[in-house]
Amino acid sequence: TDGDALTWNKAPCRFCGTGCHVQVGVHDGRVVAVAGDKAADVNKGLLCVKGYHVGGILYGEDRLTKPLLRQDGKLVTIEWDEAIDIIAKRIMEAPEKFAFYGSGQWTIPEGYAAQKLMKGGLSNNHIDPNARLCMASAVTGFLATYGVDEPAGCYADLDACDVLITWGNNPAEMHPVLFSRVTDRRSRGEKVRIIDISTRRTRTTDAANDYLEMAPHGDVAIALGIMNQLIASDSYDKGFVEKHCAFRSLESDSPTLQGEAITEDEFRKRIAAYTPERVEELSGVPADQIRVLGKLFGQRDLRITSLWCMGMNQHTMGTAINSLVHGVHLLSGHFGRPGDAPTSLTGQPSACGTVREVGTLAHALPGGRLVAKPDHRAQCEAFWNLPEGRINATPGYHTVKMFDQFTLPTDEGGDINTLFVQVTNPGQTLPNLNKLFNDKDELKDKFLIVSEVYPTATTQLADLILPASMWVEKNGIYGNSERRTQQWFKMVEPPGEARDDTWMTIAIAHRLLELGHEGMKDKDGEFIFAVKDDQGQDVPIWEFEHYYDTNVDKHLFEEYRQFTTMKHKNLAPYDEYVKARGLRWPVVQQDDGSWRETKFRFAGFDDPFVAEGQEFDFYHSTSGDGRAQIWFHDYQPPPEVPDEEFPMWLCTGRVLEHWHTGTMTRRLPQLNRAMPTAYVEMNLQDALAQNIRQGETVVIESRRGTTELPVWIDGRGRPPRGTVFVPFFDETKLINNCTLDEHDPFSKQPDYKKCAVRVRKL
Ligand code: SF4
Repeated sequence: TDGDALTWNKAPCRFCGTGCHVQVGVHDGRVVAVAGDKAADVNKGLLCVKGYHVGGILYGEDRLTKPLLRQDGKLVTIEWDEAIDIIAKRIMEAPEKFAFYGSGQWTIPEGYAAQKLMKGGLSNNHIDPNARLCMASAVTGFLATYGVDEPAGCYADLDACDVLITWGNNPAEMHPVLFSRVTDRRSRGEKVRIIDISTRRTRTTDAANDYLEMAPHGDVAIALGIMNQLIASDSYDKGFVEKHCAFRSLESDSPTLQGEAITEDEFRKRIAAYTPERVEELSGVPADQIRVLGKLFGQRDLRITSLWCMGMNQHTMGTAINSLVHGVHLLSGHFGRPGDAPTSLTGQPSACGTVREVGTLAHALPGGRLVAKPDHRAQCEAFWNLPEGRINATPGYHTVKMFDQFTLPTDEGGDINTLFVQVTNPGQTLPNLNKLFNDKDELKDKFLIVSEVYPTATTQLADLILPASMWVEKNGIYGNSERRTQQWFKMVEPPGEARDDTWMTIAIAHRLLELGHEGMKDKDGEFIFAVKDDQGQDVPIWEFEHYYDTNVDKHLFEEYRQFTTMKHKNLAPYDEYVKARGLRWPVVQQDDGSWRETKFRFAGFDDPFVAEGQEFDFYHSTSGDGRAQIWFHDYQPPPEVPDEEFPMWLCTGRVLEHWHTGTMTRRLPQLNRAMPTAYVEMNLQDALAQNIRQGETVVIESRRGTTELPVWIDGRGRPPRGTVFVPFFDETKLINNCTLDEHDPFSKQPDYKKCAVRVRKL
């Protein structure tokens, strides 16, 4: 390529929540090069193997380019007008039976537009994102502890910690660029101790100083054991706890996320039961190792960062284990200094910018408002200039319930009849997938709409498929795991008639307006998505040829920005993000007019909202006194454990080469060659006991379903005896046929990390 003709522009990587910045090289209307962005603080020029190939995701041979309608079992191409009309008419027939399922891959404007259509337009809260399957327990853990969601620390903690503890987490494969910040420090001679607490050995274990192998669910007992040791040895941080913490527990028969206050003495009594010996029984981690962890947290001269991701979130005690790990850091005072942080990582590129903040969860509204609270609904109605009472007070269906209601026949009470899926692949990722596939013949009156880029497991089930543009084929804004908001511009045209997801939402809303749906108007009779030109005239952005006449992303972002001050998650104006490689919220304007981001929340030296003169201030404290909550949760056993019939634990997860369901990375030849198929990792002794050979295809069976997989003995993850691991990226080997749809009582997040299976030779 002629170097002069190549134009470069910035964008975040399309894949994981790390949010690495890439420089995207475009030539002749096509992305032809990608480079790590040296100006980006997140990745300092580095990318992982997925990031280096991210440009290729646009150019798979089977891109969807026309709307497709299923007629008599066959997909036929239709025009966009007809597709939008079909959707709008189904909604008009029964607006309360329509549900919207979205994603942590939605850009901020996409998610904001979707929830505004549903909650502000249709008075319908049946909208939920796939983040319910990956981040919901982190959210409830943050809310229960600090009264506000999202991590207090940031990636800079990895540059300052003396000890890194990974809790059921494998950042060496899943967040490799972040993990390299620590390994890079070591290669420069710095001492950083890595302690890996996990149910199986991984590439993170290879870099760890200590590996603590726990039984599935053992993390809850380990966290309680550390707190027990801090109290028993009197090495907890009394000054920090006295000034900044309160104690909580679930006291009533119908417990709430806020629980009830308990005294420090009550906390001490309860935690006394979790001696190292009892924790060893529950977790399998030797009592002496629990004492070592207790001593480590008792040392104030060290800086300790905890990292976790799906291991703690996809957990029937997800809220509990998230709250307990925050509690370990608070009790020990390992909080709020650079390098001292409990930090959850996200798997999706905008789990921390879109789904949580803009109100796409079924119970939420933008700005941390809740649909159940009358004053919150009134606030949002005022912001949107809607008539009083427009927003429905009843939380909508969370993900598992939404699909239950969609897959249940109408005459049996299934009250969702039309479901619109954007930017996600539930046909591969929902737990206990058989429910979705097996009953399809009985669901004649149900209608599944899927906006997608490529054919997927979900489009196989769809009645209407809408071709979507992706990544740099559209403008976008994402939020990464460290509260960093990142903007990019459209750089190339999407193929065929593929269009932006925000446009689809607005076009449906406008068609509803034409059909007479009153919810599409505000109090003054204006269209709820109206964009005006400089003369005050409507720009017809619902017609795709006019969609880019104004920057609709900027318009929606600025509208949404008004909500961000409600929970001190202040964002800067759109144009600031155009200039920056992202800014971590809260972002506040300085006296000189510039905008300053915040690295360490609740810490007086950095957070602009901490009261003057305070070292720490938890200003959304649920106890209303500026304190964070240290929780006690009793250990509860997992809902399903191995038995004679199903004697092994199944854990599911990801691999370095593929991102989530593999719809993008499996179309990249380099990555697909490196990891062409899913497999079941088995311990050598387990394989020998059943006379199973390397590479042999076996059947994995649970009480819910089966799948066939080749065996990788002592695979990349080296599982212990009695445990198998299967990655979920391969749509030809659906491991979620076997997984359990039991979920956390507060976050409603399912547990993909543990259920009982057997392995059978074919
Ligand atoms: Fe992309 Fe994540 Fe890899 Fe960074 S670590 S390049 S964000 S996949």
